[in-house]
Amino acid sequence: MKLRNVMCLWAVALFTIQAVRAQQEAQSNPPPDARYKVDVLIVVGHPDDDVEVAPYLAQLIEEQHKRAAVVYATRGNSGGNAAGPEQASALADVREMEARHSLASYGITDAWFLHGSDTPGGDVLRSLEAWGHGQALEEVVRLVRITRPEVILTWLPNYVVGENHEDHQGAGVLATEAFDLAGNPLVFPEQVTAPRDRLNISNYGEGLRPWQPKKIYYFSDAIHFEFFKGRGPEYPTSAISRSRKIAYSQIAAEAWSHYKTQNDFTDVQLKEFTEGPVRLIWGKSLVGGSPTGDVFGGIAPSPIGYVAPAGYQKPPAQVSFELGGPWAFYRAFWRAHNIEHLADLYAPEAQVDPKQSLWVPLLIRNDTKSPKQVTVQAVLPKGWRQKPDAKAFEIAPNDDFPIQLTVVPAEWDKNTWQTLTWVAKSDGQEIGTVKLRVDVVGNGLPQ
Ligand SMILES: [Zn+2]
Repeated sequence: MKLRNVMCLWAVALFTIQAVRAQQEAQSNPPPDARYKVDVLIVVGHPDDDVEVAPYLAQLIEEQHKRAAVVYATRGNSGGNAAGPEQASALADVREMEARHSLASYGITDAWFLHGSDTPGGDVLRSLEAWGHGQALEEVVRLVRITRPEVILTWLPNYVVGENHEDHQGAGVLATEAFDLAGNPLVFPEQVTAPRDRLNISNYGEGLRPWQPKKIYYFSDAIHFEFFKGRGPEYPTSAISRSRKIAYSQIAAEAWSHYKTQNDFTDVQLKEFTEGPVRLIWGKSLVGGSPTGDVFGGIAPSPIGYVAPAGYQKPPAQVSFELGGPWAFYRAFWRAHNIEHLADLYAPEAQVDPKQSLWVPLLIRNDTKSPKQVTVQAVLPKGWRQKPDAKAFEIAPNDDFPIQLTVVPAEWDKNTWQTLTWVAKSDGQEIGTVKLRVDVVGNGLPQ
């Protein structure tokens, strides 16, 4: 062997040894803390809303060994108390305890209670205003990044006839926004910044990683439960738990029994509630699967990268007429978050106590470059009145004109559904018709 060849072999051997040593010394980035990883994150408004999906969760935890955690947007400080005198902040502390006992009874140990104040009413924008929308969203995005859920279950973001609690809708809005934001490193970047020296004090950088959940489903307190049929998976609650030897409906009833402050139901109502199927409404999936298929269909263990939503869609350059307030918000919101199919669930509806009045926000949009004159004609059922009664409106270029109407129902229409109609015209052309179906019955909440 020539000396040059021997030198070459030595060089190769030395290089290999160095490479192996370098490999041994290579550091790997510690993965996120597995203790907080969940399969399902439930985002709701109040301590006790979780019972809505408890039979399904209990079965998922026992039979499929899935992990679940709950985020409550409020601590329920404005609810009544069926168990004792505690009110306001004291009630919030009690309700937080009740929630922890209830969740623990079927295997959920992780729950977070955000700062939002319980805001009884029906207009989601009021809850978001009361909670501080930005701060609440920051908190939910953080918890999505900590718990890294595959699936989010939350309240339906829609204005419905039923309990229609604005805190429920608000939780659904925050969860949908967080679904589309938690994977984006530019959203609350301080949360996904690495700490400079994690063992030191006064550190900055929260040290989380972006996370993209895969699916989102909704549930609702609407009275038209039957509308959801075929719009998502349905889970019966009659199966028997092997460990407990009782039906999952009964496990949910026991979970509910921990919420003593909120228990103003009869046993019959409770039985009907827990023995009905858990009906979910398909929101969207980033991993395929069919709307009525299993929640975990198509979900593989590996993470997926960020998927940007459609975002706000600028309206076409025309004059238009629509329902305003929360209805206008939801139309733009559904489009922006790729859940526009929720618009087909219901024609716009509302409810009004026959002795009170109904707030109807209308909106004229002028997305053209010239001022427009618009006239609005109301077609109300016999005996119904509206205030103000102005019919002509001048709208500046690229501006909106919000009309705030107060509509007083005819008392004889109690317990009926009525349709209210408004027709708008500009330059002699009809630019839009608004129809609102109204259930003439109170729901106990201010509108
Ligand atoms: Zn609630």
